[in-house]
Formats: sequence, C-alpha cells, structure tokens
Amino acid sequence: MIYDLVVIGGGPAGIMASTIASQNKNLKIIILDRNRVFGRKLLLTGKGRCNITHNELDFKKMIASYNQSAKFLYSGFSQFGVKETLDFFKKNGLDLKVERGNRYFPNDGDSQSVLDFFNLKLKENNVEMLFSVNVVKINVKNKKIISIELSDGREIEGKNFLISTGGKSYPITGSDGFMFSLIKKLGHNIIDLTPALVPLTVKNEWVKKLSGLSLKNVEITIKNTKKKILGEMLFTHFGISGPIVLNLSNGIVKLLTKGNIFINLDLKPGLTEKQLDLRLQKDFEKYSNHDFKNSLNDLLPQNLIESILKLSNIDIHKKVHQVTKEERLKLIKLLKYIEIEINGHLGFDTAIVTSGGVDTKEIDQKTMKSKIIDNLYFAGEVIDIDGKTGGYNLQMCWTTGYLVGKNFVN
Ligand SMILES: Cc1cc2nc3c(=O)[nH]c(=O)nc-3n(C[C@H](O)[C@H](O)[C@H](O)COP(=O)(O)OP(=O)(O)OC[C@H]3O[C@@H](n4cnc5c(N)ncnc54)[C@H](O)[C@@H]3O)c2cc1C
Repeated sequence: MIYDLVVIGGGPAGIMASTIASQNKNLKIIILDRNRVFGRKLLLTGKGRCNITHNELDFKKMIASYNQSAKFLYSGFSQFGVKETLDFFKKNGLDLKVERGNRYFPNDGDSQSVLDFFNLKLKENNVEMLFSVNVVKINVKNKKIISIELSDGREIEGKNFLISTGGKSYPITGSDGFMFSLIKKLGHNIIDLTPALVPLTVKNEWVKKLSGLSLKNVEITIKNTKKKILGEMLFTHFGISGPIVLNLSNGIVKLLTKGNIFINLDLKPGLTEKQLDLRLQKDFEKYSNHDFKNSLNDLLPQNLIESILKLSNIDIHKKVHQVTKEERLKLIKLLKYIEIEINGHLGFDTAIVTSGGVDTKEIDQKTMKSKIIDNLYFAGEVIDIDGKTGGYNLQMCWTTGYLVGKNFVN
C-alpha cells in the first residue's frame, strides 16, 4: 500500500490535517502516533477543558500574540483563521462557548469531547490509525521521502508525508523532541529549542512562603528589557506562575542564560505613586491609632500583608500616626516596584509549549510544504512558532493542520 498522505503525530495539528485531507474519499490516509491514543496533550489543555481558540476575528491582531516568526501565519490565518475554525467546529457538530478573557472552550467544558469529535471524523472518513509506533527513520530518494521506518520494524510508503510531532515540552505526552534529529538529517534548520510558557523559580524566600496566593490586576516588568505585562499571577512553592508570568517567561528563559534576572512587581498598577500616596494617607488617617501592622487591611490581600510589612522595614508595632513621611514614601515605592530575583525555570517537563523548531523560512506559508523535501509538510508546534496563553497555540495547530489537509499535492 502506498498512502496518499502519511501523518506522523496524532496531536491537534495531525488530527486536523487528517480530518480535512480525508474529506476527499478517494485518498488513502494513515495517521500514526507513539501513544496508545491520539491527543494525549490535547486532553490536558485548558486544565482538561481545552481552551480551543481565542475570540479575535481580526487575524492581524491575532498574529501579534505569537513570537517573532508570527508573520509566517499571515497567509494561514487569511485562509483558515479563528472565524473559519469556529465555523468548522460548529458545522461539524462541536458546540463552543466563549468565556472570560475571550477564551473559547467546548460547550461541555471537557477536552475529551474535542478528541472524541476528531476520532469520530477520522473513523467516518476511513482514515487508517496506527498506535504505539515510533517513527525511527525516514528514507529519502531524490529530495523525496519514499518511506518511514517504525520501531516495530514496519515500513510505511507514501506519496506525501506530514510531520506533526509537536515540540519538546511535556514529554510525558509523547512529544519529546526526538523527531527533530530526523528532521535535521533531512536538511532542515532547527531554531534553538527552549521551554516557553513555563513557571519560573525565584531566589526570594518570602515569595515561596506565599505559595497558593493568586493576584489579579498586577503588573510585572522585566527590569533590563522594560517589557511589561498586566494581569493575573500566582505564587508557588518554587516561585511564580500564572498567565502573566507564563507569557513573559519566553523572554526571561532566554535572558537567564546570562545569569539571574530581576523583575518588578507593581501591586497597584491602576494608581500612580501620587494617587497611591493619597490612598495610603486616607487609610493611615482611618487607622491612625492602630499598630502599623493593621493599617494595610483595606489595601492588600490578607496573606500578602505580612510579607509587605517585613519588606517595608517599618516597625510593625509603631502606631500609624508615628509612621514618618519618608517611611510612607518608601512603602509606596515598595508597593509599586517589589523586586523579585528570578534564578531559573521549571524546564521542558512543565513548559506549556516549546519555543523554536523547524525554521519557518524553509516552509511555504501557504501550504506548509517543505522547501527542502518535495513531498514533506509540517504542522503545529514542530514549527518555530509559539503563542501566548489563551488558545493561541491550538489555533496555530488548527490553522497549519488545515492548510496541509487542504493543500497537499497528491
Ligand atoms: C498542560 C498543557 C496545557 C495546555 N493548554 C492549552 C490550551 O488550553 N490552549 C492552547 O491553545 N494550547 C494549550 N497547550 C499547548 C497545546 O497543547 C500544544 O501547542 C499542542 O498540543 C501542540 O499540538 P501538536 O499537534 O503540534 O503536537 P502535540 O500535541 O505535542 O502532538 C504530537 C504527537 O506526536 C506524537 N509523536 C511525537 N514523536 C513521535 C514519533 N517519533 N513517532 C510517532 N509519534 C510521535 C506524540 O506522541 C504526540 O501525540 C497546552 C499544553 C500543555 C502541556
């Protein structure tokens, strides 16, 4: 049997490509994965709820949420962007709902429904599925792949091949990065792989003591690049995580190769220093005869107060009316610019995505076809594109998977 399309990797990108390609019933398509099921990572997405895409219909704005290679997605988004993705799921029977932060989820809030949806389509369209097999070798002749060899000794021949084996993060789900060594042998350049959307470890013990505390509407600034981000963060037993930390982590991971880096946390980004001073003066008036330690109850979450009191170096038993102007102004600086020293990250094991991958310069952006091997395509995280949290990474998989399924040349 010589297949029309051999899809290596049954994650979101591979199952989307196979589903679209198999709409043409005359084509023989096979999809294979090293796991016993497809989409192990897909099941974990959105904490098991699958944040399937982001509610941004303007694809130019959408592109701004990916890394520097994002321009590469321009053509893809104009063919199959968020609108087309929403239409696709709706038309084929998967209802979606939009939630806080413009995040789309399946209606029943269960990522299994998304996987079931694709498994049904693949079966209906007679796509051959092969599980628990590892691709270990790719055989090439005259710039064309003729076959792939599997760990169980089998050889699969095809007219076209799609590599959708993901990145290197969360290897427990099957995407361990091994495939990049085979892709390199084909002559492709691989942009350095680093963990992205990854929790950060910190040096400051007070941060770790706040483990479990989540802060909304705070702002983090990377001190040496001045890059800032506003939103929600989480304190953990090793350091910091949560949406704004994950979204900044990509840049921080790269800076960390040169040593520890510092960030400033602004607990009151909505207030200027002057406004915060007025606010504090009001609170100090209210609690004038109380101990200083009881004066911040209206301003900060309870679990944070002890740490701030310690960092302020103001005597906590001092009466509020005895706090000097100088001490108050120092407290304002503290609340606006708490310094946190980042000394590492949790690595590929816990990174949500991988930054780096197949160089986009070597892939045709309209079809996802390799510019080096005549019958090879790429889709999903294996490509050097990564996005922010919020459904962007899955959208990239739906888009690139669609392009392959629709455009591969038989
Ligand atoms: C915990 C977590 C939560 C996430 N939540 C979200 C979210 O809510 N929204 C969002 O947009 N993104 C989310 N992401 C990111 C998103 O899951 C990935 O970007 C996406 O799964 C990438 O899809 P892919 O098809 O490119 O690769 P993968 O999903 O990694 O699939 C690749 C497949 O290829 C198989 N494979 C690899 N090598 C071989 C080989 N040699 N032979 C055979 N098979 C092989 C693997 O077993 C795997 O099944 C999350 C990621 C994680 C880890």
